[in-house]
Amino acid sequence: QPDLKLVVISNRIAPFDPNKPKSGGLAAGLEPVVQRSGAVWIGSSETPGEGAERPLPLVPTGAGHVARLDLPAADHDGYYRGYSNSTLWPALHSLPDRMSGSEEDYGSYRRINDFIARATFDVRDSDAFWVHDYHLLPLGAELNDLGIERPIGFFLHTPWPTPDMIECVPNHRELMKSMLKYDLLGFQTNRDLNNFLACLRTHFRLESKDGVVTTERGQTRLQKFPIGIDPEQFAAYLAADLSPAEQEKVSSLLQKFQDAKFAIGVDRLDYTKGIDKRVEGFKELLKKEPQSIQLLQIAPSSRADVDEYQKYKEDVENAINHVNNDHGTDEWRPIHYTNDSFSQAALARLYREAHVGVVTPLRDGMNLVAKEYVAAQDPKDPGVLVLSKFAGAAEDFNEDEALLVDPNKPEEIADAISRAANMPLEERVKRWRSMMDKIESYTIHDWSADYVRELEKSRVTVPAEQ
Ligand code: UDP
Repeated sequence: QPDLKLVVISNRIAPFDPNKPKSGGLAAGLEPVVQRSGAVWIGSSETPGEGAERPLPLVPTGAGHVARLDLPAADHDGYYRGYSNSTLWPALHSLPDRMSGSEEDYGSYRRINDFIARATFDVRDSDAFWVHDYHLLPLGAELNDLGIERPIGFFLHTPWPTPDMIECVPNHRELMKSMLKYDLLGFQTNRDLNNFLACLRTHFRLESKDGVVTTERGQTRLQKFPIGIDPEQFAAYLAADLSPAEQEKVSSLLQKFQDAKFAIGVDRLDYTKGIDKRVEGFKELLKKEPQSIQLLQIAPSSRADVDEYQKYKEDVENAINHVNNDHGTDEWRPIHYTNDSFSQAALARLYREAHVGVVTPLRDGMNLVAKEYVAAQDPKDPGVLVLSKFAGAAEDFNEDEALLVDPNKPEEIADAISRAANMPLEERVKRWRSMMDKIESYTIHDWSADYVRELEKSRVTVPAEQ
C-alpha cells in the first residue's frame, strides 16, 4: 500500500467483523483496504441524529480508524431514501421507470453532503481524500469550497448511464459540474467511463484529452479501475471453521440438495439484480428439462423503506411460488429461497458446492458475487459462471470464460444454465482457470493501490487565486 495518510468517505461503513454479512460490494471492497492501509474511514452511523459532534470520534480498527457520523435527521430521508435511492440509483442503472422522489430531496442530498464535508474537514492530518459512490457525488465540491487543497478523488461503484438517461435526473447538470471538482474520477468499466465522457460532451460541450478534462478549477483525470476481491481471503474462508450457528445454517441448506445439481444466486433483494427474470429462466428450463437442476436463491432484504423494493420483493416471491407449485412435487422443490444473510465464509461454502453460479443483473457496477463464486471453486471440479452481459464483471470475463447472457431474456438464461450444468469437466476447468488467473492478477489490493497512486499524483493544477 502507498505510504499515504488517506481519508476514505462513504455513506456506509463495513461491520469489521468476519462473522457478519457485508451489506454490499462497497463494504466488502473497502474493509480490507482500510484495515491494511491505516486510513480513516468516515461514514454514516445509520442512526440519524442531531448531527453535530466535534471533534470526530475516531475508533481504531486494524491499522485504520473509523468515524461513524450521526447524519442530521431532518434531511436524512430525503438524502438516503429519496435522492440517493429513489432517484439516482434507478437512473444510474438505466431503469427510469423505477424512479420516484420529491423535489425537496435534492436539497436534503446537498445539505447532508455539506454536513459530511464539514465533519471530514476536522481530519486535518491527511494527505488525500477518497470519496465513494452515488450518495456522495458532490462531496468533493463541498470539500473544495472549504479550501482543502490536497488531492480529492471519487470512485463510482455503480454504472454511469448515457446522456439521455442522466437527463432524467433532476439537477443533473449541477451534479455533474460538482463532480468536475474532483481531481480523479474512477469508474468500474470502459462502458461507464465512456458514458460519462459522452455526458460531458453532450451536456457541457467538454472534451477530454488523454483522459483529462480541464475546467477553470483545474484538471480532472478520468480512469477505469475494475474492482476485485481478495482470492486468498476466500481460500482462507474455505479452510477455516464456521461458527456453530452458521455451520448449522449452511448444513441445513446443503442438505436440501444432497448430491443433486444446484445453481446459486446471491443478491441483495434489488430490482437491478434481475432475480425475477432469472426465476422465469428457471421455469423455462424446467419446462424443457423437468427436475434437472435446483436453484438456491439467497436474497437478503435491502432498502425495504423504498416502495419499489417492497413491490419487487412481492413480484419475486410470487414468481418463485408459481415455479415451485407448477414444477415441484412433495419430494422435490425447484427453488429454495431465503432472505437470510450470510458471512462471506458461509457464502464461500455454498458457492463451492453449487454447480452453477447465476449472476444475471439487469445492470451492475461490477458484481463481486461473480468473482467470489469463481474464487471459491474446486480447481479440480469447478462450477460454471452464468453472467449477465450488463454486469461490470462481463468486461473482465469474456465468452470463453463465463457463459454470457442477456438478463432480460429468460430463454437465454435457461439455455445457459442447462449448458453450464452439463458442461464436460475439461471445458469447465479451462474456463475457470482463465477467470481465476484474472482474479489473482488484479485483486482488491491492486485496485486500491492503483487508485491511490493515481490520486497521489493527480492534483497537478492548484486552483487559481480567487
Ligand atoms: N454478501 C454477504 N452476505 C450475504 C450476501 C452478500 O456478505 O448474505 C456480500 C457478498 O459476499 C459481496 C457483497 O455482499 O461481497 C455484494 O456485492 P455485489 O458487488 O455483488 O453487489 P452489491 O450488493 O454491491 O450491489
